[in-house]
Amino acid sequence: MKTRITELLGIQHPIVQGGMQWVGTADLAAAVSNSGALGIVTALTQPSPEALAKEIDRARSLTDKPFAVNLTLLPTLKPVPYMEYARVIVEKKVKIVETAGRSPEEFLPMFKDAGIVLIHKCTSVRHAIKAEKMGCDAVSVDGFECAGHPGEDDIPGLILLPIARDALKIPIIASGGFGDGRGLVAALALGADGINMGTRFLATAEAPVHENIKKALVESDERQTSLIFRTLHNTARIFKNKVAEEVVAMEKRGNVRIEEIAPLVSGKRGESALHDGDIHGGVWAAGMVAGLIHDIPTVAELVSRIVKEADDIIKKRLMEIVGG
Ligand code: NAD
Repeated sequence: MKTRITELLGIQHPIVQGGMQWVGTADLAAAVSNSGALGIVTALTQPSPEALAKEIDRARSLTDKPFAVNLTLLPTLKPVPYMEYARVIVEKKVKIVETAGRSPEEFLPMFKDAGIVLIHKCTSVRHAIKAEKMGCDAVSVDGFECAGHPGEDDIPGLILLPIARDALKIPIIASGGFGDGRGLVAALALGADGINMGTRFLATAEAPVHENIKKALVESDERQTSLIFRTLHNTARIFKNKVAEEVVAMEKRGNVRIEEIAPLVSGKRGESALHDGDIHGGVWAAGMVAGLIHDIPTVAELVSRIVKEADDIIKKRLMEIVGG
């Protein structure tokens, strides 16, 4: 499949890995890039800018294919030296960057001067238009189905993507709810140039998380997610576990402050849950696509299966429908 996204990013398949906190390591990113899709190293998963520099080197030692670095700009419990992470990205000559969370305006000149292809992930068309005007090369448009932060508008991809396509000239990556060939064909039909998958890549052999997490996704249906931080205007979709239910209950009581829920929701606690395999041990992101996950393939198996399924749908099922 050749789309504006495969051309822009120099990749074989129009599939991009989500910038998953605690999951987007060099190992997963390289496995995704080696499969012909775009792997992403998540900057904040590394404890310091120096550690990110080493992780970028590690990714380069594991793949000679293009990969990106994700820099997420959202509220955090402790201050993050974003500019220092951004400088490492430039110094290490990373070619593709994905920003997310808020406007990448302050980093844009340094990324553009370095010749970086910048993808900005946004959850609304108005932010996508702003990103295009600012000079971003592509946007990843994240529907309400997604894991992590869907924004506050609650608009699903079925509506968001065609509106974005009508409003934008730059390529669009459809994000949120994608996990198989049917989703890929649907995204292309809606006007996107490729798909982004996070939760689906979490349930692969190479994802650096405990088997229990992967099995929990296989056993889940599409209702196994919760929305937290609604009252803090920083909504996050996470796997519905005991911690999620406790946070939702606290928010329902009203006037909850981040300081009160911090011990429950801290990323470090979520990281331990992902690595130790205690599915109720903390907060970890998962999308509604969990309902479409039935196995734990290797990344290469998953990507080739999705591309083949999409190809079959287009050439057989859709052609039959139009009598071709
Ligand atoms: P953390 O431990 O600093 O915070 C835990 C959670 O609380 C995060 O979701 C954070 O957004 C939220 N939070 C913190 N302070 C807040 C405030 N004042 N108001 C509202 N919400 C607040 O986060 P972490 O796990 O170390 O992750 C680092 C960053 O990466 C966070 O901003 C997180 O949201 C983000 N993230 C990124 C991805 C991704 O795909 N790149 C996925 C999940 C989370």
